[in-house]
Amino acid sequence: MTGHYSSKRLIKGAFVFAIALTQLLPPDAAGQSRQLPKAGFQRFSGNLPGSASPGAGIGSISGTGLTSPGVHLTSGMERTARNAREPYNPGEPKLNMALVRWPRNKMPLKIWISPGLQLPQLPFEQLPDTRVETVFQMMQNENPFAELTAAPGWTEQNNYQVAAGIEQWRQFETEGLLRFGFTTNPQEAQIMVFFNDNFQGAAGPGGTNVGALTCAQLFTPEQVLLPQFRQKPVIMEFSTRVNHLPEKMQSSATHEFGHALGIKAHSPYRDDIMNENNVVFSLSEGDKATIRLLYKTEPKFVM
Ligand SMILES: [Zn+2]
Repeated sequence: MTGHYSSKRLIKGAFVFAIALTQLLPPDAAGQSRQLPKAGFQRFSGNLPGSASPGAGIGSISGTGLTSPGVHLTSGMERTARNAREPYNPGEPKLNMALVRWPRNKMPLKIWISPGLQLPQLPFEQLPDTRVETVFQMMQNENPFAELTAAPGWTEQNNYQVAAGIEQWRQFETEGLLRFGFTTNPQEAQIMVFFNDNFQGAAGPGGTNVGALTCAQLFTPEQVLLPQFRQKPVIMEFSTRVNHLPEKMQSSATHEFGHALGIKAHSPYRDDIMNENNVVFSLSEGDKATIRLLYKTEPKFVM
């Protein structure tokens, strides 16, 4: 599919349409349905695929469905002096904007940036339903990534660019909001980074392409206390082709790590890093106000 676009076209269309996608427990999982916001769950339950993953109970997962990946050509609103420091709503749009974040006892979050590894390719629309579980199952093997190879176009520099993008969020450590670090051991990572050449089937009109994707599974605070609860990694994936410029890879990582931290919705303001077409390279005052709001509020869901 991407073969239809010349490299020139790709450069022009390199605005990153990074999308936050989440997965949720089905309503019958471990009798926890009453913990889910009813209206929100029903609103999208029609999109839930019928097939749950093997392990029943808390391990069986369905996706939230996605209808229009990444094709939004609106340019975003301007911030004014009046609202320059105002937060936007970071909640999960598919769950009535319920707030999602890491609980404090998971800090410091450990991030593993793979050596360019490319996960098995699937059509883009299937990724939200499967990605977290695929990697989680791989991790049960002694040599989880032995079969994987580096994504075409990946260089070691890409890992430094991703790390530099993530580092933009470091400033909130001094405020006591969150803590994170990098690990060389994928087995202990809560957040994992992979790469691909391009997302399969994710090219939109005008040659725009999805540049990155973050997938997470959400749980209620009560679910994580159950004995059968298993921590699932948040998976970030970056296209080496769309993020072919160092500053694109870096700003894309800043944006995606915002999703990995729990900013699920996009900012309506074009100069915020969490705008859907992120065109800036650093956090705005509005982004900062938003992460502060999120980490000072009790979440409905945790990762
Ligand atoms: Zn996004």
